[in-house]
Amino acid sequence: MVDSESEGDAAADASRRDARERDRADPLADFRERFEIPDDYYMDGNSLGPISDAAEESLQRAVDQWRDQAIRGWTGSEPPWFWYGERLGEELAPLVGADPDEVVVGNSTTINIHTLVGTFVDAREPDEPRGVLVNDLDFPTDHYAIQSQLRQRGLDPDEHLHLVESRDGRTIETEDVIDAMDTHDVGIVFMPSVLYRSGQLFDIEAITEAAHERDILVGFDLAHSIGVVPHDLSEIGVDFAVWCSYKYLNAGPGAVAGLYVNERHFGESPALAGWWGHDKESQFELNLDFTPAGDAGAWQAGTIPVFSAAPLFGALELTHDAGIDVIREKSVDLTTYLIDLVDEHLAERGVSVGTPRDPTRRGGHVALEHPEAERISEALRDHEVVVDFRPPNVIRVAPAPLYVRYEDVYDVVEIVADIIDEKRYEKYEAAGDVT
Ligand SMILES: *Cc1c(COP(=O)(O)O)cnc(C)c1O
Repeated sequence: MVDSESEGDAAADASRRDARERDRADPLADFRERFEIPDDYYMDGNSLGPISDAAEESLQRAVDQWRDQAIRGWTGSEPPWFWYGERLGEELAPLVGADPDEVVVGNSTTINIHTLVGTFVDAREPDEPRGVLVNDLDFPTDHYAIQSQLRQRGLDPDEHLHLVESRDGRTIETEDVIDAMDTHDVGIVFMPSVLYRSGQLFDIEAITEAAHERDILVGFDLAHSIGVVPHDLSEIGVDFAVWCSYKYLNAGPGAVAGLYVNERHFGESPALAGWWGHDKESQFELNLDFTPAGDAGAWQAGTIPVFSAAPLFGALELTHDAGIDVIREKSVDLTTYLIDLVDEHLAERGVSVGTPRDPTRRGGHVALEHPEAERISEALRDHEVVVDFRPPNVIRVAPAPLYVRYEDVYDVVEIVADIIDEKRYEKYEAAGDVT
């Protein structure tokens, strides 16, 4: 006798077998063991990646060097703390498709937006437009920083910060970005590579080409793509970029940020100058005249935060061992698998996908939309599923390729279905966003 329940069970068994089959075929399956994952289902690596043994070791190495060498660690440790910014820049360069001297680590993402946007507003000729083009779905800190840079130059942000408007509240059309270049006094286009809420991946090449045809400079915030989407910044000719290291790069909370400046801009005066951006050879002559480094290193400001940088050495070993192209391939596969499962099991339960379905327009996470998104996210936490809620109705699910399995994705979709069917979210209060 075959009743509908056992038919359902048979289908579920087949789906689970399929998930396990995918895990068996996954070339990155072994990387999960190199991390410590504190929850059953960690789907929040786009906010804070977990610790790996390698990151912990490279942090511990710096702690030991501090204990053993104290001040001598600046030049006597291996790698020398003094050169951390440049050494890590070299290691990051292949992930953004740049030459080693075009990349450095230092500061935080917000500060790097300040110094780079400030620099390039200053670099405009007096008769050139100095407005900055952003979009209305950006992460807020980017706008705060740019507004304050404009104000410091006597430019009213109401007149000089231009927002490309989203048509659907989720995505930004390339065409609209390009149109805005023609309809406003734009000197700099500053866009994210991936929108933090919907996960839309921008067409960096098309935007850069269109901007350059109009003598506009272009910068990108790669916070949500570095470490999960490969980039080709030098080849495309992007002028500058910033990113953080604590999301898909897994370098730890508050880890030092990174930046890229195309070599044709070496020698521009950094807007936020400091002795760590001085030419390294003569930095310790302590001259009162600032001689900026001849490369991207010039945009460092103060002393490198050694313990916020050290874990990045170990974390990058994993990314490089895996290979960014293989990471991207699995990421696309995981998000496609997730979207298919949502269509199959959650659409009928009122969940929709707010992320572009074309994988070439998608970063590493998927936005699930539901009117009860906030309370469902809370209920998920009690099922050992860590996701995050972004107002008003988005649950971000990030199946980070280095440590998330296909079967995890399968389980999470099942758990969401159960929570909705049994209305388990009703016992939670919508408390507002805290992270
Ligand atoms: C995460 C993120 C930041 C973070 O900036 P911090 O200075 O590290 O706080 C900035 N911009 C975007 C788009 C982000 O996603």
